[in-house]
Amino acid sequence: MIEAALKEVRRRMDEAMARAGRVDQAMLVAVTKNHPVSAVEEAAQLGVRVVGENRVQEAKKKILAYKGPALEWHLIGHLQVNKVRQAVPLFSLIHSVDSCKLLDEIERVAAKHDKVQDVLLQVNVAREASKSGMAVEEFPTVRDYANTLPHVRVRGLMCMAPFFEDPEEARPIFRVADALYEDMKQYFPAGQIKYLSMGMTHDFEVALEEGANIVRVGTAIFGERVYD
Ligand SMILES: *Cc1c(COP(=O)(O)O)cnc(C)c1O
Repeated sequence: MIEAALKEVRRRMDEAMARAGRVDQAMLVAVTKNHPVSAVEEAAQLGVRVVGENRVQEAKKKILAYKGPALEWHLIGHLQVNKVRQAVPLFSLIHSVDSCKLLDEIERVAAKHDKVQDVLLQVNVAREASKSGMAVEEFPTVRDYANTLPHVRVRGLMCMAPFFEDPEEARPIFRVADALYEDMKQYFPAGQIKYLSMGMTHDFEVALEEGANIVRVGTAIFGERVYD
C-alpha cells in the first residue's frame, strides 16, 4: 500500500527541485530498515532502484531473501569497524564513513575483494552527541587520507540534521554541508565528487532546496517503523 505515498514523495521532491530552480536529478534512497523484505519488493515493483539500510546484519538477510528487479543497496547507518568485512561485498555506496580507522579497514577488505568501494564522508555539522559522523575540524584530515587509498573512492558527503519541529531550522546546517561538499571537489579528480546525501522524511524538501542530490526517505514511504 505504498504506491500513493511513494508518488507523493516523488511529487514533493519535484516541487522542491523546481522551487530551487534546479534542473539536475536527485536520487531517492528508499529507507527500508525495520521493514520486511516484502516492503522492499513492493517498492521495487513500483520503480524504486536504490534502497537504504542501517544495519549490516539486517541488510544481509534482506539481500539474500530479496526477489525482484536488480537493486542498489546503500548502507546509511553507522558502520562499526568489525562489520566492514561483511559490509563491503553488500553495498554499492556506504554513506557513513567518519574516521581514518574505518577507512583503513574498508581499504583492506575492498582490496581483498578486488573492489573499489564507493563511500561518502559523514559530517556531524550540528555536533550532536547522539549522531555519528566526524566533526567539521576533522574533515580535512579524513578527506585527504581517503584520497590516498586505492580501493576507496570518495563520492561526496553525507549529513544528518537534528530533528527540529520546524524543518526550516535545519536549513543553516544543510548550507554548511553544501559548502563543504562544493569545497571538497577541488581535492579529488574531476567528476569524482558527485553526491550530497542529506534530507529525510521530515526535512528532505529543505535539503533539496539547499543542494542535496540524494535524499534518504523511510517513514514517508513505508509508514512508521515498528521496533521490537
Ligand atoms: C532512518 C534513517 C533515515 C530515514 O528516516 P525517515 O525519517 O524514516 O525518513 C535516513 N537516514 C538515516 C541515516 C537513517 O538512519
